[in-house]
Amino acid sequence: MSSLLIFCRACAKQVSSAQTRDGMCIDCQVRRSVADLRDEHARLWRKRERYRTQNANVEQIGRQIARTEDRIAQRIRELVPNEREAVDHLRRELEAARGQRYTIKGV
Ligand SMILES: [Zn+2]
Repeated sequence: MSSLLIFCRACAKQVSSAQTRDGMCIDCQVRRSVADLRDEHARLWRKRERYRTQNANVEQIGRQIARTEDRIAQRIRELVPNEREAVDHLRRELEAARGQRYTIKGV
């Protein structure tokens, strides 16, 4: 099977055309497809931190966070059929989601 090398239109990385969809590499496809869930995750994460400092019950928020992570995992699995690669993507997205609160300003 031959495939061309093309540039991803989102991150300009050179990737095999076999791994692209809509001119985007798999990384960018994943990032785009989970963007709204990542925002939701970041929002819940911040909420939990806030509640924690007030000694409020954070159990329910913890469950919401877990559910959001499940949905992120599900979307990634739809895009990435390879189980091992899907796990890699999930780990990266969750790391980014959990770190996101530090980079959002004025919230
Ligand atoms: Zn890309």
